Amino acid sequence: MPHPLHPATRASDLRAAHHLPLGIFRGISRRRLAVGTVALSMALIVVHDLPASATAIEPAEPTVVGQQLTLSAANLAQSEAALPLPTERDDIALSYYTPIQWPVAPTSPITSLFGYRSAPCAGCSTQHSGIDFTPGYGTAIHAIADGVVVSRPMEGWGSYVVIQHEIDGQIVYSGYAHMISGSNVPVGTVVHRGDVIGRVGSTGESTGAHLHFSIIVGDTFVDPLSWMRTKVTEAWVG
Ligand SMILES: [Zn+2]
Repeated sequence: MPHPLHPATRASDLRAAHHLPLGIFRGISRRRLAVGTVALSMALIVVHDLPASATAIEPAEPTVVGQQLTLSAANLAQSEAALPLPTERDDIALSYYTPIQWPVAPTSPITSLFGYRSAPCAGCSTQHSGIDFTPGYGTAIHAIADGVVVSRPMEGWGSYVVIQHEIDGQIVYSGYAHMISGSNVPVGTVVHRGDVIGRVGSTGESTGAHLHFSIIVGDTFVDPLSWMRTKVTEAWVG
C-alpha cells in the first residue's frame, strides 16, 4: 500500500490504490469515479465545516480516511484527467412560433399557379397574384393563422377576406377571393387558425368555383405555394 502522504505515481501503485482501500470502486467508470470523488470531497468539506455539536453525523468508519487519501493520490490524478467535466448551455433565444395550416385541403387541385399566365378571362390578370384551388363549390375555407380581418381593396376578388397576421415577427396578409356572396366574415373579425371564414364560390372575375389564395408580405405578393410549404406547421384537419 502506498504511503498515505506520498502520491502514487507508478502504474503498480495506481493498481494498488484500486485494490486496497478503493476496491469498492472497481467496475465504476472513471467518469463516475471522478464525480464521486469530487462529491465525496465536497461532503467532507461540509462535514468539516459543521460545528462541534454536529459531529455525531461525522462518518466514523475508518474507510473514510482511506477515501480521503484518494484526493491526494492516484485518484486525484484520475479525477483531473477526467476534468473538465463537459458542460452544455442551451442557446438563449427569443423565437416566435405561429401555428399555420392550409386554407383548404392541401390535396385540393390547383388550377393556376403564382406569376405570369395568359389571362383566363377578360378581366383576369396576367400576373397572377396567388394560386387557385378548386376543392369544389361551397367548400369551407379556413384561416391559415390567427389574425384579424382587415379592409384591403382588391380588384376583381368578388366576396373576399383579407386577414392580417403577425408571423415570425412580420406583418403578413392572407387573402381569400371569389367566396360565395355573404359567406365571408366581416372586416374587424378576430379569427383563430382553422376558423371557417367563408366558402368557395365564383364571385368577382372568375370562370368557375375556386379559391384564389394570396400571401402578401408587407406590400409584396409572394408565391403562396412556396411560402406555405415552408411555413405550415399543422397537419391538415378539414
Ligand atoms: Zn386566382
